[in-house]
Amino acid sequence: MISSFPAPGTPPQDLLRWAMSQYGDRFAITTSFQREGMVLLDMAVRLDRRVRVLTLDTGRLPEETYAMIERVRERYEILVEMVQPEGREVEAMVTQHGPNLFYEGVASRKLCCQIRKVRPLERKLAELDAFAVGLRREQSATRESVVAVSEVDGKVKLSPLAEWSSAQVSEYLAANAVPEHSLYGQGYPSIGCGPCTRATKVGEGERAGRWWWEDSADKECGLHFTPAGKVMRTVDVLLEQVLQAHA
Ligand code: SF4
Repeated sequence: MISSFPAPGTPPQDLLRWAMSQYGDRFAITTSFQREGMVLLDMAVRLDRRVRVLTLDTGRLPEETYAMIERVRERYEILVEMVQPEGREVEAMVTQHGPNLFYEGVASRKLCCQIRKVRPLERKLAELDAFAVGLRREQSATRESVVAVSEVDGKVKLSPLAEWSSAQVSEYLAANAVPEHSLYGQGYPSIGCGPCTRATKVGEGERAGRWWWEDSADKECGLHFTPAGKVMRTVDVLLEQVLQAHA
């Protein structure tokens, strides 16, 4: 399959056009409506309004993100598939660990991300052969190795903006009058769940406001990290306990 992938350096619009024609409704944009995701969404809808758009509705998103989803639905006249966690898994987790378990340590926080993000996304990805995300190499040290096209667990994963700079994203958004999430105007350079995201101070990195109480090396939410090391094993133990509780 790798040999039929577009060549390195293929422009984002051409990558999206290729994926949409190759995979049809088994391809989707996955976005949390941050700047990069909105670039992809705008590009894809211009190519074909029938493109699938997925978002993870963790149940802990800020109100501003729900308002942004309403804006996107209205502006582009598209449906947004709201992928939600399994209610009984959330119930077992918050019963065992409390609603704000993420502040108790990296393993607890990653457990929450597993239940509210990773597992719902895995279930949804079963419907797809390919998906696109808005990752850029510049965003953080943990994203330096992002490539435009890769395979993850048998799915084709596109990161069409892998090589884009923040300035290129800004230029596209302005040139195409793309709606922008209102939290950017309040000093949030990166936007996730409400309890786990804050505005940043001058001089801090783009991802500094995400899980700000953790060391920077641990800041990926679990959707992109390599499953190895002590933290991951602890998460697996906690996850097993939660799943057993509602089995
Ligand atoms: S970002 Fe925070 S609230 Fe959202 S799933 Fe992860 S730990 Fe839970």
